[in-house]
Amino acid sequence: MNELDAKHPLDFDAPRFSIKKPVVRSDAQGELSDAERVDRAMKAFARDMNSTTAAYLESCVHCGHCAQACHFYVTSQDARYTPIWKVEPFKQAWKREAGPFAWLTRTFDLKPAVTADELREWQELLYDSCTMCGRCSMVCPMGIDIAALVGLARHAMFEAGLVPHELWAVAERAEREGSPLGATPKVLKERIEWLEDEHEVEIPLDKPKAEVLMTLSSIGIMKYPSSLTALAKVMKHAGYDWTLRSDGYEATNFGMLSGNLAWQKALSLRLINAAIACEAKLLVLPECGHAYGALRWQGANLYGKPLPFEVLHISEFLARAMREGRLRTRRPTASLTYHDPCQVSRRGGATGAAREVFAGLKADLREMPNGGDANWCCGGGGGVVTLHRADEHRRRAFAIKMKQVVESGAEKAVTSCENCRLSFDDGQAHYHWDRKMGSLLDLVAEHLDEAGTGPA
Ligand code: SF4
Ligand code: SF4
Repeated sequence: MNELDAKHPLDFDAPRFSIKKPVVRSDAQGELSDAERVDRAMKAFARDMNSTTAAYLESCVHCGHCAQACHFYVTSQDARYTPIWKVEPFKQAWKREAGPFAWLTRTFDLKPAVTADELREWQELLYDSCTMCGRCSMVCPMGIDIAALVGLARHAMFEAGLVPHELWAVAERAEREGSPLGATPKVLKERIEWLEDEHEVEIPLDKPKAEVLMTLSSIGIMKYPSSLTALAKVMKHAGYDWTLRSDGYEATNFGMLSGNLAWQKALSLRLINAAIACEAKLLVLPECGHAYGALRWQGANLYGKPLPFEVLHISEFLARAMREGRLRTRRPTASLTYHDPCQVSRRGGATGAAREVFAGLKADLREMPNGGDANWCCGGGGGVVTLHRADEHRRRAFAIKMKQVVESGAEKAVTSCENCRLSFDDGQAHYHWDRKMGSLLDLVAEHLDEAGTGPA
């Protein structure tokens, strides 16, 4: 038995749920005929196909392991939410049009041609019901990266003009204004001035040259501004030459989450060009999971050549600063647990970084059951937290998270993703839960030992 299957995640004293069939509603952009939408979707999917994705679409053995790994399936027990089923129209199109037995499939109509109605129906499965957390990919015995296939299917859905309205709107706003939540350069400048006055910290903006370019998430700027103060305190304490840039600070990438490659590239290029403009040797991504995936793992591909600077997630940066003895800290008194952001740990490969920070703090870390790479998603990643119609589904999945936090036995919980914090805030309010999700960066900033008596 797979370790992940060992115990039903809802086998605990958390709220129980009535399982309702979701109300399927689909949004559309543009005035396209059904035939045009299908044609565009299929062309986009074909453009993304290569030998690896072809092997993924051919090799499912229908074992069902991926279902047991997916928070949306586990908390609904609805077969529609089986991960590999979420890409079924594209698997169907592959088998019918280009697979090794395509002629046979077509001749005997073993797989019907994909219709616009199917694409509309699958919008809910590809966007509302997948955070692209990769937990299903991790357990698939055939090595099928289902989360990556969902990402490709989203490219096709975007081309077809079939993206959920809220996600399309925030992605379009990010492309137009530079930020999905209205954190424009003017707003950023005003926030910085206010925080500098209020907290007596220095937050450098637009230095012409700096060793380190720090980037932000609009969720942090608008919802958790203490993250900016914490950043300034840590950078001053560690003695880095750093800056923020008003021409490249927003690290969230809703272009990627919506499925629009052009917007994804435009948003990534803003950061890349800002780092080049100030001759930074290092670009640090904020506490945002998908920002890490977008730039660290996809940035160079979109740029077309290797990036001329190093890219680290803030948790990796803090771990390095600890390792180099730049941070003198005090031990947190409360026991702590850590929620691994999927795109930083399981998908990003930086699982050890946060643990190194906890070790540097000499913190009492209590791991959640199934923590680290096997961690359960908060339910809000992949843009799902932006979709109001997915609220019920997302909150149902959040019950697994509550169980994990409680079972860790820790007094406090922290994470390194502001999108995860948003999901936790929502879950906490919805369930009247007495736990709050904190930030790893804030934790470090709060435990800096300015008197210099703690471990270095
Ligand atoms: S785990 Fe892999 S092989 Fe098994 S059903 Fe899911 S996709 Fe298919
Ligand atoms: S990537 Fe995550 S949310 Fe999406 S199908 Fe797989 S396990 Fe479920």
